[in-house]
Amino acid sequence: MTKLICIVCPKGCHLEIDESFNVTGNFCKRGEVYAKNEVTNPTRTVTSTVKLNSKILKMLPVRTDKPIAKSKMFDVMEELKKVEVNAPVNSGDIIISNILGTNINIIATRTIKE
Ligand code: SF4
Repeated sequence: MTKLICIVCPKGCHLEIDESFNVTGNFCKRGEVYAKNEVTNPTRTVTSTVKLNSKILKMLPVRTDKPIAKSKMFDVMEELKKVEVNAPVNSGDIIISNILGTNINIIATRTIKE
């Protein structure tokens, strides 16, 4: 039996999942999906910054456009250290496409005009 706190919404249900992947404690179906993923292939949205050439800011906030396997998070952070972006940048622009062959993009989360 594994105990988890669901992080899908602010309610924070206390979940339990057994060896047969039966989930209890979830208020909704999303908690069941979260618990099963968490014990088989846990994922997280990565948020970070990359170097930015701009008159306004030195670092551009970015994130993955989908959750990525936790096992890849450190490799993603290493890739982000290699990136340098020139302004202007729009929120949602793809900064790195298909990072590490995952079909997940790194996108800007802030618009920088100059
Ligand atoms: S189980 Fe549903 S209601 Fe409970 S925290 Fe997760 S998403 Fe929210």
